[in-house]
Amino acid sequence: MTDFRVSTLAESNGDPEVRVQPIPDVPRDGLLVRVELAGVCATDLHIALGHMPGFDFPSTLGHEVCGIVAEIGPGFGSDVRGTPVRVGDRVSVMPATPCGHCAACKRGGPYPDCENWDVIGFSNPVKRPAGGGWGEYVLCNGRARVFVSSAPASNVVLSEPAATPVEGLIRAGFRFGDSVLVQGTGTVGLLAIAAAAFGGASRVTAIGGPSRRLKLAREFGAHSTIDIGELRDPETRREAVLAASPQGLGYNIVVECAGVPSTVPEGFGYLRRGGCFVELGHFSDEGSTEINPYQHFLSRDARMVSSSGYTPDSFGRALTIVEDLGEKADHLITHRLPLERAGDAIRALQASNKWQLDGVEVGKIVIEPWS
Ligand SMILES: [Zn+2]
Ligand SMILES: [Zn+2]
Repeated sequence: MTDFRVSTLAESNGDPEVRVQPIPDVPRDGLLVRVELAGVCATDLHIALGHMPGFDFPSTLGHEVCGIVAEIGPGFGSDVRGTPVRVGDRVSVMPATPCGHCAACKRGGPYPDCENWDVIGFSNPVKRPAGGGWGEYVLCNGRARVFVSSAPASNVVLSEPAATPVEGLIRAGFRFGDSVLVQGTGTVGLLAIAAAAFGGASRVTAIGGPSRRLKLAREFGAHSTIDIGELRDPETRREAVLAASPQGLGYNIVVECAGVPSTVPEGFGYLRRGGCFVELGHFSDEGSTEINPYQHFLSRDARMVSSSGYTPDSFGRALTIVEDLGEKADHLITHRLPLERAGDAIRALQASNKWQLDGVEVGKIVIEPWS
């Protein structure tokens, strides 16, 4: 076989279409991965809607990639955790590969600052053959970071969405015994809950909905959940969220995973003195919100950090967490779709479609290219 199938988005606001392209040669230090599962996330929706300025179309999307090593160059070596990589191994592929040549790379980071990222799933298939998880194969170059795992594919595919909250918690200085509030119970919010619980949080509270997601939040480690649909009045909600915190004094860390501007000042109001607010939800411009420097920061001695990515270190930690989820990973994944239905997957994430697909409320959708 010399050709393989990909689902490619020709332009923004179009529908991905299945194309056939030649399997590229594997470089001496690279590897070819046969994709088992590739996640669909809100970033894919923003790309498809044209919300990412300067995005290079056409593009084969899919940056949450789990697959089996199909071919390996003799110089690839080990994975990030030191395991030798062999044909037949299941790997999680860290999608962003730094260039190695720019100033940020030459001074050794920080890792997300590379000026010329090569990102699997954000890539033009003409310039980068086998370039996204929504295809039967992904080609990794010599600087790619992969992680060998013996966990099921439905766990491993969650390592990328788990890496952003893990990086956010690390940047916030999360420590064993901290109390954590997570705003939003989408995939990233649920994985933030899992990460905080795994890391030894003394209390994890989640604000979100609907009820199926709150049930998942408790399964993933939340001690208490607040249903945003039931507590619509901000004052009533505030009382409930603070009542669930240790001594009613608020939380050491608040992680914003809802992507709604008003959740930011609301979240600051839940911080314990000296706490840290972690911004993860606004991956695209959803508008502005008002911050009062005294009330939100100084009066509570607060800090704020954001994270739009991760490092090989935080990615590896995230993989450890999702490996530990066991069968709970399957409770999060609601839809497994073939390449031909990538367009349905994107549309299902639009609020106007009420997060429904095939009569089932959407949790995590994954593309299964060989199904
Ligand atoms: Zn994503
Ligand atoms: Zn670079």
